[in-house]
Amino acid sequence: MTIQHPPRVRIAPSPTGPLHIGTARTGLFNFLFAKKLAGTFVLRIEDTDLERSEIRFENDIIEYLRWLGITWDEGPVRQTERLDHYEHYLRKLLHEDKAYYCFCSPEKLEIARQEMVGRGVAPKYAGTCSTLTSADVALRHKEGARSVIRFRMPSTILQFHDMIRGDVSFDTSLFGDIVISKDLRTPLYNFAVVVDDYEMQISHVIRGEDHVSNTPKQIVLQRALGFSTPLYAHLPLILDTNRAKLSKRFNAVSISDYKKTGYLPEALFNFIALLGWHPSEVGTTVNISRHTEIFSRNELIHAFDIERVQKAGAIFDIEKLDWLNAHYIKVCDEERLLALLSDFAPQAWRADPAKFRAVVALMRERMKRLDEFTEYARFFFEPIAYEPGILIWKKSDHDATKEHLRLLVSLLESLETTSFATPALLEARVMPFAEARGRGDVLWPMRVALSGVEKSPGPFEIATILGKEETIQRITHAIKVLENLSH
Ligand code: GLU
Repeated sequence: MTIQHPPRVRIAPSPTGPLHIGTARTGLFNFLFAKKLAGTFVLRIEDTDLERSEIRFENDIIEYLRWLGITWDEGPVRQTERLDHYEHYLRKLLHEDKAYYCFCSPEKLEIARQEMVGRGVAPKYAGTCSTLTSADVALRHKEGARSVIRFRMPSTILQFHDMIRGDVSFDTSLFGDIVISKDLRTPLYNFAVVVDDYEMQISHVIRGEDHVSNTPKQIVLQRALGFSTPLYAHLPLILDTNRAKLSKRFNAVSISDYKKTGYLPEALFNFIALLGWHPSEVGTTVNISRHTEIFSRNELIHAFDIERVQKAGAIFDIEKLDWLNAHYIKVCDEERLLALLSDFAPQAWRADPAKFRAVVALMRERMKRLDEFTEYARFFFEPIAYEPGILIWKKSDHDATKEHLRLLVSLLESLETTSFATPALLEARVMPFAEARGRGDVLWPMRVALSGVEKSPGPFEIATILGKEETIQRITHAIKVLENLSH
């Protein structure tokens, strides 16, 4: 298919909740599409639902799109600032009798709906008000009756081509005459979108699959207004690993939650770009090796192809996100990482900046998320407490452990502080002893005495950061712990 150059696309979030994964993915795909083809990306805030729209959500959406690096060229344009435009086209439709006022009460409509459901037919508006004359309408309005504006839905089999799903068709007679506006100043979603996409000269509408049934409604409205129809691409649903729709109850869905737990924006950018798309064939198979998953922003822009987006649901695999995040933490610029960790590490840990830097350098290799730093690195900065039994290696015993640690303390005391300058230097000094006594017998209790946990970096890495004095102190404490245990 030929794609109009340069395209104009948009993301049109409703500010009824914080930015979530689905909207971020729609934004990202539009962004990649626009950037790849040197097009224009518009941000439109669909805030006509006054009851549910909130400025704090608009702010959240804007903040986190920016944080992810999904930047737009025009906007934000708010629908509430465009009411004159909608009114103009509503009047046009009413004038041409393509739309009409409907006075049916919600109660009456509900009874009619239930009656149709009871008869086993798909419910739709029966058209009660479709034959009212303009004199009837004027009279009812004069009496103060409440009304909405309905569109006269043509009966047709409407077909459109979706860039991802291929040809799609709908029988529009099943929709009935839909409500397009509550009044001249309160348009509803399907109508406002049609006016906006036209006036903003949107060439491609790329949005979630949940909108696929809105598309035929929007196309008939475009035809009624004499507008051209953009090309459509509906992105697959995002599913969890059980193939259920990603739910707010079980998954973190808002982007701010990912930031709070220490995901880097570039990891999310990379991950979200692969929700339903992959630059190469290999990516469409299930078990792909990890090295085919890391892509920079520019690589993604360069490779993006909307027609290669899959139809099947996109699986949201948190393990993959964690793996990508671990990668981006490893390669993160050091100063930036130190700054990012200020949200996660207590201020007191920075009292010795060189030590903090050394701990970060060591721990960045093992973190999947930045929030893990608080837990993993605590033992470097705060007194440790542990279950004494964990000091004893599985193939050793209490007395031998105590003995090994005593000898180790003597050995460490005899060393110059310069031996603590690097893990390799210290290792060279301690290893002959450890080899003689049994590696596990010495290194396990040494490491646990220093860290207080069963899993940690190696004893030499820890000892060089703690320094000679603190290292000896902690091991001496471990010996005391073991002595108390035997009494
Ligand atoms: N306001 C709609 C939403 O947030 C946008 C739909 C569209 O892109 O047309 O889902």
